[in-house]
Amino acid sequence: MDFTLSQNQLHWQRIARDFAQGRVAPIAREMDESHDMPIALVSEMASLGLLGATLPKSLGGSEMDHVSLALIYEELGRACSSVRGFMTVHSSLVMQCIHQWGTDEQKQRFLPMMASGEAIGCYALTEPEAGTDAASIQTTATKNAGGYLLNGEKIWITNGNIARAAIVFAKLTGTPDGTKPHQQITSFLVPLESTERVGITRTRMSGQELGHRASDHAHITFKNCLVSSDMVLGGEGMGFKVAMSALDHGRLGVAAGALGVHQACLDASVAFVRSRKQFGQRIGDFEMVQSTIAEMKASLDASRLLVYRAAWMKDQGQSAKLETSIAKYFATEAAAKAASDAVLLHGARGYSNEYPVERYYRDIKGLQIYEGTSHIQKIVIASEVIGKPTV
Ligand SMILES: Cc1cc2nc3c(=O)[nH]c(=O)nc-3n(C[C@H](O)[C@H](O)[C@H](O)COP(=O)(O)OP(=O)(O)OC[C@H]3O[C@@H](n4cnc5c(N)ncnc54)[C@H](O)[C@@H]3O)c2cc1C
Repeated sequence: MDFTLSQNQLHWQRIARDFAQGRVAPIAREMDESHDMPIALVSEMASLGLLGATLPKSLGGSEMDHVSLALIYEELGRACSSVRGFMTVHSSLVMQCIHQWGTDEQKQRFLPMMASGEAIGCYALTEPEAGTDAASIQTTATKNAGGYLLNGEKIWITNGNIARAAIVFAKLTGTPDGTKPHQQITSFLVPLESTERVGITRTRMSGQELGHRASDHAHITFKNCLVSSDMVLGGEGMGFKVAMSALDHGRLGVAAGALGVHQACLDASVAFVRSRKQFGQRIGDFEMVQSTIAEMKASLDASRLLVYRAAWMKDQGQSAKLETSIAKYFATEAAAKAASDAVLLHGARGYSNEYPVERYYRDIKGLQIYEGTSHIQKIVIASEVIGKPTV
């Protein structure tokens, strides 16, 4: 593996850094407090070519490699996890998934308008009774003359209220006896041209979220919502595979986003321990503080190598399932530890929103949960290493 970035990768890193530091970081606190991300940021990301990511130019994409995409998520995550989360769902979970599984018509219809930011995408898998156990979803799809009728509810759907297209997972009714639960799952591309689409109700999640407060998290209800037959994504009964492959794309984005949060914690902590004085000297001159900074830096470098390795393997066309889970697990856990330490190093100041570290501390918990919790990443890693259970 070559440890230097190519000119093209540096180009994307520079574009993302300028945008993240120039446009996102200055308003990150305001977005967190107002629980809102200005929609103008979406068009700006689109015009910079960020949203098109790895997709071919013929579909509005930017044809960047996965290392470049990871660098973009890292830079966005350093400024604001809500903005990074928006893009990971839109560009990785949704667009890369449509590109992988869609028909030519579906790709032509959805991807160019998503790359241009004209249409935002969301991914609707989680339900009140089905989180980690995705095969237990209860949303149903019943065939009728016009297509399929969807019934059920989805929660925690990032971009759900602002999206114009959703990938929705549902179980086909009327499958032969003995069909396994995951074989009943089918994914649908549901156009959401207007907020009043018949059979769909969208609201913000109730309750105050710990982090990602500028993200849009929706509760979506489907009641006899008609989806035409040509909107099946990947074929009947293929939904579980579609869902898992999308999560694999998203996981790399989350791991790279965690790198950004970790880097931001280190930057803020170094600046603070250099300037804060106690007992007549910089707190950065105390050995215990130095030890914390050293741990933060060493684990950041380890995370970075793991994330870049997973991205690089994808660029070589290799299966990076194990490496992506390792990167997601390690980078999110390391960043959570770094965020906790960053608050401690700031003392009481770290406890206030006048310094950014409390936001990093709140935001990072989400990265340990979505796209497969840390427990699930460990299950994936162990099963790849030991092999699947024999009984
Ligand atoms: C900020 C945010 C954004 C999100 N965005 C989306 C989105 O866009 N689309 C979407 O569909 N969902 C989204 N989600 C939902 C997310 O994917 C789920 O929260 C996640 O899959 C976990 O499901 P759950 O919350 O129901 O927890 P549960 O599945 O109930 O898990 C609870 C705990 O049990 C553990 N656990 C469960 N099963 C096992 C097991 N077999 N072995 C060991 N431990 C286990 C888990 O690791 C966890 O610690 C989002 C969540 C958050 C917080």
